[in-house]
Amino acid sequence: MSMLDKIKNLKSTECVVDTLCQGVSQNECTECGKCVFGYEGMTQLQLILGDITEKKGKSADLAQMQELCEMMKSQSLCETGEEIGTAVLTAIDTYREDFEAHIGKKGCRACVCRKFMTYHILADRCTGCGDCVDVCEDEAILGKAKFVHVIEQKECIQCGACMEACEEDAIVRAGAEKPKCPKRPIPCKRR
Ligand code: SF4
Ligand code: SF4
Repeated sequence: MSMLDKIKNLKSTECVVDTLCQGVSQNECTECGKCVFGYEGMTQLQLILGDITEKKGKSADLAQMQELCEMMKSQSLCETGEEIGTAVLTAIDTYREDFEAHIGKKGCRACVCRKFMTYHILADRCTGCGDCVDVCEDEAILGKAKFVHVIEQKECIQCGACMEACEEDAIVRAGAEKPKCPKRPIPCKRR
């Protein structure tokens, strides 16, 4: 499926910025180098889109990508550069709000971009087993045996290892809406 078709058929579980970012980085222009606008354009797009997904987007990014893509459409030597330029312009026109939410650090609507997610431990599910603490290399989880564990958001790097380790499904990933969780470890109700 072409990049443009992917953008036109984007599912609600897919993020437009992430989809473009992956498409651009897997594109043959980045290996070819026969034309400046294909190679340089794609390299620049890769950097800008990557930054947006990593919560490092800037207010000038959309205008810069639009200018770049118009040039790619008219100056690339083959259809590939032209197609990508058209796909990115279509994506910005159709999903401008999603781009702005990423750039404004508000969130990723599809809950795909890792840097926009946070991890939380639900008090009514946690048994205080400590398995999550064992896998967290950043020591971001507070707790002791039979106490509801708590993730310290400022220490968490959103790797997701704790969520995979928890057999009680007590750890959830959240976008803009966060679940209510204790701020400090409290005795477990579940055993
Ligand atoms: S969150 Fe899951 S893995 Fe961590 S202590 Fe609670 S039940 Fe155990
Ligand atoms: S997501 Fe990763 S860094 Fe954050 S608490 Fe879980 S294991 Fe630790």
